[in-house]
Amino acid sequence: MFDDILTFIRQLYREPEGFIPLHAPIFTGREKEYLCDCIDSTFVSSVGKYVDQFEDMVCDFTGAARAVAVVNGTCGLTAALGMVGVNPGDVVLTQALTFVASANAISHTGAKPVFLDSDKDSLGMSPDALKAFLKTHDPTDGRIAACVPVHILGHACRIREICEICEKHGIPVVEDAAEVLGSSYEGQHLGTFGTFGVLSFNGNKTITTGGGGMILTKDAKLGARAKHMTTTAKIPHKWEFRHDAIGWNYRMPNINAALGCAQMEKLDTILTDKRAIATAYKTFFEERTDALYIDAPTGCTANYWLNTIRFDSQEQRDNFLTESNDSGVMTRPLWTLMADLPMYTNNLNDGLVNARYLAARAINLPSSPRAKECA
Ligand SMILES: *Cc1c(COP(=O)(O)O)cnc(C)c1O
Repeated sequence: MFDDILTFIRQLYREPEGFIPLHAPIFTGREKEYLCDCIDSTFVSSVGKYVDQFEDMVCDFTGAARAVAVVNGTCGLTAALGMVGVNPGDVVLTQALTFVASANAISHTGAKPVFLDSDKDSLGMSPDALKAFLKTHDPTDGRIAACVPVHILGHACRIREICEICEKHGIPVVEDAAEVLGSSYEGQHLGTFGTFGVLSFNGNKTITTGGGGMILTKDAKLGARAKHMTTTAKIPHKWEFRHDAIGWNYRMPNINAALGCAQMEKLDTILTDKRAIATAYKTFFEERTDALYIDAPTGCTANYWLNTIRFDSQEQRDNFLTESNDSGVMTRPLWTLMADLPMYTNNLNDGLVNARYLAARAINLPSSPRAKECA
């Protein structure tokens, strides 16, 4: 039924028969050189030049005042939430349509995630839903200690509006920017709007350090605090071990940062290719009436991490899922809504009309950067 779509994807990736993954990393730069250098230096762990270098590269690229490398995005979010003052018993607003890490990071602070609806075009947290929730929120349900909007699949949510609303209510914003390295909103890199923003470098993201994350902030003082708190809160001294807070051991090992430096050197090429793939998909789906390509919302320059289309019905979407995966072209539905996961079914949500609509009909297409173009 969907032969033409599958043929198109196989042509795009010049892969006439083999398996096409959803998103595979590429290592066409100096990855091996830096890894060998790192091993030869013996500084593979908590000390070494690559961590500082990687942080500086991400800082320059994103325009943040400070970037702090951590073990993964989930830990980065947990630490950021702790640093903005989220405590056990608090409530943290986030969205239902996201990867489980956003909600888990909130839960690890002892706070309760509340799941708000998404906008249909951006897929991310709806400022209208946020406003509506704040109007009716009962303070006996818990103090709202933070808001975690998630930029989904490479697209920006209406982050300025969300920050404005939160500022009015004195709620700190921690952006889950795990999927959006390379994406900006009105010229400003995502993850630099809120008090903190957190990137991920998991193996399926735009670039990878094996596992890893980065806390971004536009406030240099907060950045210094983030570095201190995620590296056991040790007071610098040549031989003394003295700590001034209960810190986290979330620092990124130097060997992962070595991989990160090599990947950052290729980021522009990777983004150029990912945008070319997105344009090809967009053009292809313009011709079709049964599936709509979900483009970046107004104001957003996207990294097109995972290209997304939306079918008219769940039945059609499910048929395509079966047919594509059976034929070796990997496709995937969006995540099960957080409100439908067993550990979160009792959490508050706002009805999730758009999130349910999208979760039933949207699907991700293969979106790896093509190594040939990036070499
Ligand atoms: C990947 C991802 C994270 C963080 O994942 P880690 O594997 O912990 O780095 C967080 N939120 C979203 C939306 C993600 O996609």
